[in-house]
Amino acid sequence: MTLKVRWNRGVEVESSESILILDPTVYDPSYEYALITHAHSDHSKGLYYPFSIKCSTEETVRLAEVYRSTMGEGWRRVRCGDRFRLGEFEVRVHNAGHVLGSVYYEVVSGNGETLVYTGDLNTVKTLTMEAAKPTSCDVLVIDATFGSPAFIFPSREELSVEVSKWSIDSLREGKVPVFQTDSIGNAQEIISMLNTMTNIPVVTHPRISGVNKVYESSGHRLEYIDLRSADASELLSRRACTLILPKRGRLPSGVKANLALASGWALYLKDGRKPIPLSDHADFNGLLEFIEGCKPKLVLTFHGGRRGRVLAEYVKKRLGVEARPIEFCESVFPETKGKDRLRACEKEVLRTVRIRGFLYKFRWIYQNLKAKGFSKSEVERALESLVDTGKLEVHGREDVFKVK
Ligand SMILES: [Zn+2]
Ligand SMILES: [Zn+2]
Repeated sequence: MTLKVRWNRGVEVESSESILILDPTVYDPSYEYALITHAHSDHSKGLYYPFSIKCSTEETVRLAEVYRSTMGEGWRRVRCGDRFRLGEFEVRVHNAGHVLGSVYYEVVSGNGETLVYTGDLNTVKTLTMEAAKPTSCDVLVIDATFGSPAFIFPSREELSVEVSKWSIDSLREGKVPVFQTDSIGNAQEIISMLNTMTNIPVVTHPRISGVNKVYESSGHRLEYIDLRSADASELLSRRACTLILPKRGRLPSGVKANLALASGWALYLKDGRKPIPLSDHADFNGLLEFIEGCKPKLVLTFHGGRRGRVLAEYVKKRLGVEARPIEFCESVFPETKGKDRLRACEKEVLRTVRIRGFLYKFRWIYQNLKAKGFSKSEVERALESLVDTGKLEVHGREDVFKVK
C-alpha cells in the first residue's frame, strides 16, 4: 500500500482504499471527499460542488458566501488542531496564516505515510493572522506563488510605515490615497495598518465591507466606512479619507486620487501606481524555511508556473531534497520500495513508450521517467524486467528498445 499524489485540477491523494481531492477547481464525481483550504476563488470552488463530504473552516464558508452562496449539503466544519478520519485517511488541520480561516491539511495514510498540502501559505505574522508553522511530513505539496529569489518582501513594520506615510503625503497633496488590493486578506491588513498607525478614516468598497463583517464576527477590530454611505461621499469630496478598492475596482467618478497597488506582484510594478509589496503569501525565504522545517523527502511545488520549477531547483540545491512541480508528477511515494516501486516504474515506462514497433532510446526514456521521480538504476531494472517478460525487446544496440 502506498500513497499516490497527482495534479488533477486540484491535488489528488490516493491510497489503496481511499481517494480525496484538495482544493478542486472542477467537479469530478469520482471523489467522495474534498478538502478546501481557504476562501479565495481559485481554492474554494469545491464548496459549490456536490461532494459527499467537503471540509473547510466556518470562516472560509462565510467569506466565500460574500461572493456567492455555497452548497450546504455535505459540508463539514473543521478547525485548526482537528484530527478526523476520511475513509482510510486521517486528516489533520493546521493554520496556513494566509487569510481568515485559511488552513493547510496533513493527510496520513493507513500505514503512517504523511502528506502535507499547504494551499496558499504565509509564514509571517500579520495584524490579522498568526504565522503558519511547519509540520514534519514525507511529501510536501507547497504553494510556489513567490518561489523565486526575486521575491523578498519588506517587513510588515516597514510596509505599515509606507502605507501610512504615503496616505498622509497624498492627503497633503490634496488627493485621496486609494489602495487597490485583494478583497479578502490584504484589504483587512491595510485597514488594520491605517487604524493602528493613523487617524485617517478608511472608506471601503461594498465587497470589501462584506468581507470586513466576516473578519469582525471572528473577533477582529476594523474601523471603516462603507462606500455607499453618505459619510463616505462627504469624506471623499473633502479628500479626507483613504479608499480601499478590490484589485480591479473602479475609482468613483470625480475623485482626485493617488493610486496604489498592494500585492506581492507590486515589487515589479511599473504602471505609475504606487507599489506596496504587501502579500498574504510567504516570500522566497519564508518558503525555504518552511520547507526545511517540514523535513520532507519529496517536495512538489504548485501554483507558481515558472516559479514552481525555480523553487524546486533551489530546494534540491540548498536543502538536498528531491523536488519538482506537481504537474510533472504522476508521483509515486518516495517510501515505496522494492517490488511496488519497480512495478510502478515499469507501468510508467509502458505509458511513456506507447507506439508499437517504434524504437526508443534509453536516454529518452530515462529523461521522461526522471521527471516523474525515478532514478537511473530503477529505470534500468524496469527495462530489464520488461525485456525479460517480453513486453519490450532490445533492438540492435543495447540502449535502444522496441515496443512489441
Ligand atoms: Zn489564496
Ligand atoms: Zn492561491
